[in-house]
Amino acid sequence: MVPIGGGRVFVLRAPWPAPLASLATGLKAGLKTGLKTALLPAALLLTSCGAVHKFGGSAPGQRLQVVTTILPITIFTRAVAGDCAEVMPLIPSNVGPHDFQANPDQLVRLRHADVLVKNGLGLEVFLDKLIANADNPRLRLIDSSQGIATLESAAHDHGHDHGHPEANAKVGAGPNPHIWLDPVLAIQQVNGIRDGLIAAQPSCRTKFTANAASYTAQLRRLNAELAQKLNPYAGKTFVTFHDFTPYFAARYQLKTNFLVDMPEENPTPADLRRVLQQVKASGLTALLSEPQLDSSSFEALASDLGVKIGSFDSLESGPTAAASQGDYYLQTMRRNGDALVTAFGG
Ligand SMILES: [Zn+2]
Repeated sequence: MVPIGGGRVFVLRAPWPAPLASLATGLKAGLKTGLKTALLPAALLLTSCGAVHKFGGSAPGQRLQVVTTILPITIFTRAVAGDCAEVMPLIPSNVGPHDFQANPDQLVRLRHADVLVKNGLGLEVFLDKLIANADNPRLRLIDSSQGIATLESAAHDHGHDHGHPEANAKVGAGPNPHIWLDPVLAIQQVNGIRDGLIAAQPSCRTKFTANAASYTAQLRRLNAELAQKLNPYAGKTFVTFHDFTPYFAARYQLKTNFLVDMPEENPTPADLRRVLQQVKASGLTALLSEPQLDSSSFEALASDLGVKIGSFDSLESGPTAAASQGDYYLQTMRRNGDALVTAFGG
């Protein structure tokens, strides 16, 4: 076993299962060649105009129709909405924002929605085009990142992107979008969603306000727990592959770096071996991959090298049921805290 050596921990993005990797490759190819609109065939755009209005809009007596993007945004929005609005995720919970490709169903959903809630900060690269195609002048947009002090994405001196092509296009210049992984910033997101929903449906003000207050109280408890749990490790460094933990690290006085020079899709066994050898050479004790991804190849190599595999969930995707489990975000963040403590040798 390698000694703790400064308590640094690598977090690795495990290789994606083949179907997700090919979806992402297809999306990126579309972005690179400017073919993104071609993902929505014209014939389907036309037929969607005549589709049944199952997402209905806000006719009198009907609940506010809200669509959301990534899993944490869906969870936060449902927590605020309660039974005063119908919240439908635009992206299936088991698909991350990097892998998402719009289809005609999503276009119809957006066309008949009253409100769209997004994380913002360039995470939802697919959204602007989808909004333009949906041609819904009533649509109100809630950007949950509004007013949040952001951290810059680290400057990259390597060629490949980290799954946020738009942010990455402005290398070193864009804000890092992963704000929901800091519970204190999540509170600001929830309050922003509350204000946006009140503006869209003033008659629900009391309910939205009470729901948001009860959820943000839980987020405050989560923050206090994490702060206490991670306090003994203040100043220690953990390293990620994909640059998703700077806000979390800053909140709990940890340091974070991210690993470079490994292709995000289909890493070869040589890539994996090189990364794990860097881990071993740095005296790290654990790799943290994302649990929803297949990490079997890491596990095999890690055991060869005597390095432990743990997991840190970015919450960018999750099980299908997660979007309707009110405490999924809270529980997952508690598990992330525990995983870090274990990885730091606690
Ligand atoms: Zn990400």
